[in-house]
Amino acid sequence: MTATAPITQDVMTIPRKMPEGPINLVGLTRDGMREILIENGTTEKQAKMRVGQIWQWIYQWGKRDFDEMTNLSKAFRAELAEKFMIEVPEVVTRQVSEDGTRKYLVKIAGGHEVEVVYIPEEGRGTLCVSSQVGCTLTCSFCHTGTQKLVRNLTAGEIIGQVMLARDDLDEWPEPGAPKDETRLLSNIVLMGMGEPLYNFENVRDAMKIAMDPEGIQLSRRRITLSTSGVVPEIARTAQEIGCQLAISFHATTDEVRDKLVPINKRWNIKVLVEALRAYPRVSNSERITFEYVMLEGINDSEEDAHRLVKLIEGIPAKINLIPFNEWPGAPYKRSSGNRIHRFADIIYKAGYASPIRKPRGEDIMAACGQLKSATERSRKSRKEIAAKAGLS
Ligand code: SAH
Ligand code: SF4
Repeated sequence: MTATAPITQDVMTIPRKMPEGPINLVGLTRDGMREILIENGTTEKQAKMRVGQIWQWIYQWGKRDFDEMTNLSKAFRAELAEKFMIEVPEVVTRQVSEDGTRKYLVKIAGGHEVEVVYIPEEGRGTLCVSSQVGCTLTCSFCHTGTQKLVRNLTAGEIIGQVMLARDDLDEWPEPGAPKDETRLLSNIVLMGMGEPLYNFENVRDAMKIAMDPEGIQLSRRRITLSTSGVVPEIARTAQEIGCQLAISFHATTDEVRDKLVPINKRWNIKVLVEALRAYPRVSNSERITFEYVMLEGINDSEEDAHRLVKLIEGIPAKINLIPFNEWPGAPYKRSSGNRIHRFADIIYKAGYASPIRKPRGEDIMAACGQLKSATERSRKSRKEIAAKAGLS
């Protein structure tokens, strides 16, 4: 292992190729798909063209049935159907908030569940995608961080979230239809459950699929990856994905950040900021988003705002202030509106955009940091109920 090798986590990753049964084509890179077709009898000569055709049916037209792939021969379609499948996670429940936010609870292999949130806004729509079941990190203000169960999502399960949202929004164009530039799902943020940089390869492959010009075709400028600060993977994000970067900063001293974002004990503020200074140059991203959750009496003082400005000096940045979203049993309170505005003002006067994020979908627990798999919640409550009733 080199010094820059990814940190391995004690997280189970499902192998791409299941030992038996049909192989899911969703989530394979173009090269991966090519290899697998060759392994299954397609000649090297034909493989590239076939990948192009299948790719377009899956990712441009949203087809899930090989029989609809009319530019492939009937015999080849039958062969494909025998060996492969085109599968996305299953939507278990779908909730729609008063403000139009949609939250999907989806089931993945092994019976695990993750949440996906669609946020419609004026002129755009953002899909908040999960990268893990739960999270190995334990940020003290984050509901996902209290969830024990963790497994990395496969690339197919990550891009599958985008595909199932497009299904629900009825947003696959008809083959041959003129290109429609208006998109209901126009942006992706990797801000759902999990730490995307602890599942780097799968997140990268899924985002490459989302950006592919012959498929879903989202620009790398419309994809934002949020990390708590896995420093060794930050440069790689620039080089291998090239998307926009958001950092869960949340504090201006190591003492406070150690408590809020414990990964800070491994890579502290100084080390993190150094890595960020290099990012825009490597990826051509315009600016880095600093996410800052506003917690009453913890990180919301005027001194904090001044310190923050000093820390990020010279980095092209935007500071997203997130009013804390409460969840049952959370150990913090949301800062008052006044305090958040005062904080925003100081940052704005120093020359940075400092939008205050409007909580969305709070009535369905779909806001930032509130995601936690419902099965775990209900299992726990069933257990509690049983305990109360003296049944266990
Ligand atoms: N693991 C990644 C991405 C998922 S969290 C990360 O930590 O960056 C997406 C954002 O929501 C992060 O900035 C996270 O710090 C923030 N967040 C978590 N819990 C929150 C809460 N209860 N209220 C507001 N924001 C929260
Ligand atoms: Fe994990 Fe991000 Fe939540 Fe921290 S804030 S526990 S890194 S999901």
